[in-house]
Amino acid sequence: MSRAAEGVAAVTDVPRAQRIYVNRNLRLGSVRAIGFDMDHTLAVYKAQPFERLAFREAQKKLVAAGYARTLLRLRYDQTFVVRGLIVDKRRGNILKMDCHHYVVQTYHGTRKIPAEMRKDLYARRRLRIGGATYTPVDTLFSLPEISLYAQMVDLLDAAERKPNYRELYDDVRAAVDAAHADGSIKDRIARDPLRFLEVDAHLPAILERIVTHGVRLFLLTNSEAAYTRLIMDRLLSGVLDAHPYWTDYFDLVVVRAGKPGFFARHDVLRPLAQDALGLARLRRPRFSFTGGSVGALEHALGLSGDEILYFGDHTYGDIMKSKRSCGWRTAMIIRSLEDEITHLQAAREEWSAREGIERRLDRLAASRDFLERAIEGEVSAEAVRRFMRAAGLRGGVAQLRRHAQGLAQQMRTLVAEAEGLEMRFEESFNPYWGPIFRAGREVSHFGSQIEDFACIYTSRVSNFLNYPMDKYFVTGHVLMPHEM
Ligand code: IMP
Ligand code: MG
Repeated sequence: MSRAAEGVAAVTDVPRAQRIYVNRNLRLGSVRAIGFDMDHTLAVYKAQPFERLAFREAQKKLVAAGYARTLLRLRYDQTFVVRGLIVDKRRGNILKMDCHHYVVQTYHGTRKIPAEMRKDLYARRRLRIGGATYTPVDTLFSLPEISLYAQMVDLLDAAERKPNYRELYDDVRAAVDAAHADGSIKDRIARDPLRFLEVDAHLPAILERIVTHGVRLFLLTNSEAAYTRLIMDRLLSGVLDAHPYWTDYFDLVVVRAGKPGFFARHDVLRPLAQDALGLARLRRPRFSFTGGSVGALEHALGLSGDEILYFGDHTYGDIMKSKRSCGWRTAMIIRSLEDEITHLQAAREEWSAREGIERRLDRLAASRDFLERAIEGEVSAEAVRRFMRAAGLRGGVAQLRRHAQGLAQQMRTLVAEAEGLEMRFEESFNPYWGPIFRAGREVSHFGSQIEDFACIYTSRVSNFLNYPMDKYFVTGHVLMPHEM
C-alpha cells in the first residue's frame, strides 16, 4: 500500500530519515503557491553514475584543452567531497569551516594539512566566501569538480615548482561548465535516463495532493526546455489518470531561469513555443516561460513573498537568494540527510560516552584545582581535612601532591580516550570530513546556512506525504543556551 493510501502517519511514527525538520515556523495552510526546482530537487540523480559522468566529461575536456593524457587515469573519489566545503583557489586547499568561519579541517589537494599549519594559514583570517579566493561547494553539481581539482593539485605539485592553483581551478571550472553547457553530460543522460535518474514513485502523489488542495504549483529550473521535458516526462507522465502528461500538474513552468540572477534581475518572462515542453496543446501549464525574473513570476502568479514556498537544493542559488531577495518561504532538499541521520543514530553511544568523559573531566579538574590551592596553603585546614576524608586520604602535603599527580594522569588518559571517541565519531560519517552539519563542537558553516535560510529541510520532496496539507511546522529549538 502506498503511503498516500495509508493516510498521514503521526509525525513521531515517521522514520527520522524521512521527517521534515523546522528552522522557522511555517503554516503550510497559509502557503498559496508551491514552486519546485528540478535538478537534485524533483529529479534525484543516482550519485555514483551521475557524478562519475561529470568527472569523466571534464577530464576529456581538459585533455582536449592540452592537459596530459595521464589525467584520464584519475578516478572519482565520492567520499572525498561533501556539501558545504570551501575551496581556497589560491593555495589549492579544500577547507571545512564552522559557523564562526573558523577552519576546522584542511586538505592540500588530497593530502591532509597538519593542525599547526592549518592554524598558521587560517586562524587569524576572516575568509570572504564567494570572493576571488574562497569558493563554496554549495551544490551537488560541484562534487566531481572538486574531487578532480584536488587530485590535479597533487599532480601539479609533483610536476611544477611554482604551481598556479588558481589557474588550475579556472581550467577545471571551465571544463565542467562546458560539459554541462554543450550537452556532453545531458546527451549521455538522454540516451539512458534511468541509468542516472532515481524515479521516486511517491512524487506524483505529493504533487497531486498539492494541486487538489488548490495550491498553485510551479516549476522553476535552470535547465533548458528539452532537458526539462525529458526528465519531467520520466518522473511524472503516465502515472496518475488525473494528470496524464507531466505538464498537467503545473500552473506555470519556467525553464532556463538563470538562478541566482533570476532573483535579482527585472526581465520579463518570455513565452515558450507551444510544443517546447512536449505537447502541442497544453491543458496546463497555462504559462510556460524561459528566463525572466522573480518580479515577473510573482506578477504571473498574482502572489508574492511569504505566500510562496520554494523547494530547492542549491544553498545559494535556490534557498539563500529566494529568501533574502524576495522573502519566499524555503524548503531545502538535502539528499545526504538520510545518511547523516543513519550515522548519527549509529554513533549515539560514542557521543554519549564522550559526554560522560567530559563530565568526569570537569569533576577531576575541580579536584585538581582544589589540591593545587591546598598545596599552596590557600584553603583552610578544615576544608583540606574534609577533602581528604571524602577522598579516603591520610597524611600531609606529600600525600596531597601524590594525589594531584594521580589526578593529572587520570585526566590525560581520559582526554586521550575522548579524542579517540571523537575521531571515531567523525570518521563514521566521512573519513575526511566528518558530519556535514557539524564542525567539531560547533554547527558547520553549511549547517548554519541551512539554519539561517531554509525554513524547513528534508531529504526528499515525497517526505511531505507524511504530513497533512495544513501542517503547522513548528521549530523545536527556541531556547538559548542559558535557557536550556
Ligand atoms: P536546476 O537545479 O533545476 O535549477 O538545474 C540546474 C541546471 O544547471 C542543470 O541543467 C545543470 O546541468 C546546470 N548546471 C549545473 N552546473 C553547471 C555548470 O557548471 N555550468 C552550466 N550549467 C550547469
Ligand atoms: Mg537544483
